[in-house]
Amino acid sequence: MILEKKESCGLFGIFGDAEAVQQTFLGLYSLQHRGQESAGIASSNGEFIQCYTGMGTVGRVFRSGSGLLEKLANPIVIGHVRYSTTGSSIQLNSQPLLSEYSHGQVAVAHNGNLINAQLLRDEYEAHGSIFKSTSDTEIITHLLAKPTHVSNPDPLAHVLNHLQGAYCLLFLFADRIEAARDPYGIRPLCVGQTEKGSYVVASESCAFDMVGAKFIREVEPGEIIRLDEKGLRSRFFVKPGTVTPAHCSFEHIYFAKQTSRIFGENVHEFRKKLGRQLAKEHPVEADVVIPIPDSGTSAAIGYAEQSKLPFDMGMVRSHYVGRTFISPDQKSRELEVKLKLAIVKEAVARKRIVVVDDSIVRGTTTRGKIRTLRQAGAKQIHMRVSCPPLRFPCFYGVDFPTKEELLANNRNIEQIKEFLEVDSIGYCSLEGLLGCATLPAENYCTACWTGKYKIPVDIPVNKFALER
Ligand code: SF4
Repeated sequence: MILEKKESCGLFGIFGDAEAVQQTFLGLYSLQHRGQESAGIASSNGEFIQCYTGMGTVGRVFRSGSGLLEKLANPIVIGHVRYSTTGSSIQLNSQPLLSEYSHGQVAVAHNGNLINAQLLRDEYEAHGSIFKSTSDTEIITHLLAKPTHVSNPDPLAHVLNHLQGAYCLLFLFADRIEAARDPYGIRPLCVGQTEKGSYVVASESCAFDMVGAKFIREVEPGEIIRLDEKGLRSRFFVKPGTVTPAHCSFEHIYFAKQTSRIFGENVHEFRKKLGRQLAKEHPVEADVVIPIPDSGTSAAIGYAEQSKLPFDMGMVRSHYVGRTFISPDQKSRELEVKLKLAIVKEAVARKRIVVVDDSIVRGTTTRGKIRTLRQAGAKQIHMRVSCPPLRFPCFYGVDFPTKEELLANNRNIEQIKEFLEVDSIGYCSLEGLLGCATLPAENYCTACWTGKYKIPVDIPVNKFALER
């Protein structure tokens, strides 16, 4: 659990349920790991959309007794939890983003990063458009409102073809929800159905478990799913099979919840496979395997299974540390790590331990934990990481630090070992990682390890690029 890389957002939507707002609240709760900076819900009674967003977690924004959920009670609802990857963490950038244009109201919720947002915004501003936020999402509503786009037979499909980058989008119109996934399928999005028959759509299937819905399928790359009075209908804005997918491997390794099913398989099972692969590639004589909780836990179980070493909880994560005072900068991340992870001395003292984590970003927080394990009496520390060394930034919706700040940038394995002050270090190979996946290797994005970006990035995306 290294809090140096963050997901960009979580989405939830439900059509035609008397308790749609409560269901959305619960769905967003289960997606909270995808963003804790702000939360919002937009709902429609079929004619009029209302929206409320606020800073903080879902429970904080829609706290019990606030009366907000009651005020938003309508049968057609979308919701959003945010971690900022474009634009600051401020109220104006919280979502859903509600706008009004010549065809009525629309609320938009976005997970991902548009790599051509700056170009599009410059173009619109040159023609006098005024933007109220600094997030990349707002350009989408401007595109929708453009008269030549409005008159298109399928304005939404037409607009989506102007976007480049990673996006899963929920659009709430007064009478319907439209859910879209970019042609590369970078971020996950799936559709389900409740026992009462209402269709739901969410970033991860863990949200379906929360509202008693069954998983139907993933939204396909380049597909638009429309939920309205007639049920569920599908259409494609990019011809299926014309684009090779680039699913984000990091979703499987770190971001997604262990209970979720994404890219065709369960996250926990995938991470266990990675742990087994890691043990095959980097065995070591040791007394115990411990994870950095929670994201390293599944891989550590796999490592312990394969190496026939005992598994133990050498670190315990506190679930009672709120994020209300946490802002997304390095200093507060370090404080957060300190508050969240505590060492179980009895599990590590006088032992040769294998520490398993999902990845290492800057390495400073990992080194801090290694030092604490030494102070607790660990005899030897062997670091094992369930993905290759991170060397390149992500432009598709993950807030990594700059290339220069990444531990593996310009450092070889020996130098990384010295920096972290460990007795040995082993990373899962890229071939090993991709070999664990259900889908063919070419269906994944691996740019943060290889620097090969499947969607070319002409202008490197900067989180604050849209701020003056
Ligand atoms: S660059 Fe890395 S984090 Fe970003 S989409 Fe690709 S695999 Fe995921």
